[in-house]
Amino acid sequence: MNQRQARVVARAEVLGLPLYNAGLSSDAVRARFGVAHVARLASNESPFGASPMVARSLADLASSIAVYPDAECCALRQALSQRTQVPPEAIVIGNGSEEIIQMLCQAFLAPGDHVLTQSPSFGLHEIYPKMMGASVHLLPLTGELEFDVDAWCTALQRRPKIAFLCTPSNPVGCIFGSPDFERLVDATPAETLLVIDEAYHEYARLNPSYPDSLARLKSAGNSWMVLRTFSKAWGLAGLRVGYGIVSDANLAQYLHRVRTPFNVNRAAQVAALAALNDEAFMAAAARETVGRRDRLRAALLGLRVPGLRIAPSSANFLFLDIGQPNASANEALLTRGVLVKPWKETGFESFLRVSIGSDNENTRFIRALSDVLKEGRGLGTLKRDVAAAP
Ligand SMILES: *Cc1c(COP(=O)(O)O)cnc(C)c1O
Repeated sequence: MNQRQARVVARAEVLGLPLYNAGLSSDAVRARFGVAHVARLASNESPFGASPMVARSLADLASSIAVYPDAECCALRQALSQRTQVPPEAIVIGNGSEEIIQMLCQAFLAPGDHVLTQSPSFGLHEIYPKMMGASVHLLPLTGELEFDVDAWCTALQRRPKIAFLCTPSNPVGCIFGSPDFERLVDATPAETLLVIDEAYHEYARLNPSYPDSLARLKSAGNSWMVLRTFSKAWGLAGLRVGYGIVSDANLAQYLHRVRTPFNVNRAAQVAALAALNDEAFMAAAARETVGRRDRLRAALLGLRVPGLRIAPSSANFLFLDIGQPNASANEALLTRGVLVKPWKETGFESFLRVSIGSDNENTRFIRALSDVLKEGRGLGTLKRDVAAAP
């Protein structure tokens, strides 16, 4: 099938759909840039990995791989129910929380529906609604790289079918603080499903201003979902497991109808349970990461590079405005073996998102960025001179 034939058979919604930017693998960076060691700071993974209990639980798995996994993830939902004090029927497990975003869109969105979310934000909050033919209203940040709470409350009056709020924001790291979250919940109309994506909850809760949104939502009359994942602080990104907590078990029923029956594999279920049983490991990793994040931010600001801005972050990454095109800076970082995520959305072409890695990786990032920014300024002058030439 050639390209034109493929266009004819694709759904209209899919023709214009952007591709999710999943970034480069470490192998690809090694092969393309000829570097031996890659500082992998592009996907917000945990440099601490998972609890050692996870590896032990996976070692016993070999004898049962011929058997389908539990389609209902009973043990994992039970464990999460105990931790969160919500009934297991109100918990949905996904092949990553990404899959739950997809299920939400498939179950609840039809062409013409309207969805509210933030820009810049997690790509799938925009891609999956568009896949279903919904229109997506993107709210801008304030000039201080914070959420515009007034704009959120006003936009909610248009009664979107779903509002996706990622707090802490990916890629910015900003949060809806407690009083602002109150306002948001009060401003949400009864017709709107409020989805709070808390992929970075385990880091953010170390910030005293971060609200216990689940506790607040439990007493709200609205329909809501809180999304969390084992991919970040729990260190299980490679196994793909996330969960959603919904206001009402009836909502969960519709999500089960659209998902593939065995969506969470056996290894993912076993590993998530083992990780939950060693919460102390995750908590220590999160605390250490947050300390490194604050030291990295201070060190970067200490470089006193003109034009460099760094958003305050409550997550395991920093969002930097380097004051020059991120594409060329990113290439230069890659040649030094440093993999970060250059932001591509209009208006953010001078921003990089860098995950907090090992001490060694963070140091490599500071050194490489400092070199690149100095060179970049030199190049910028050169380009202007060339452009000015007759
Ligand atoms: C990483 C991330 C997810 C996806 O997590 P998975 O559970 O790995 O699918 C969801 N939302 C946001 C905002 C994220 O940053």
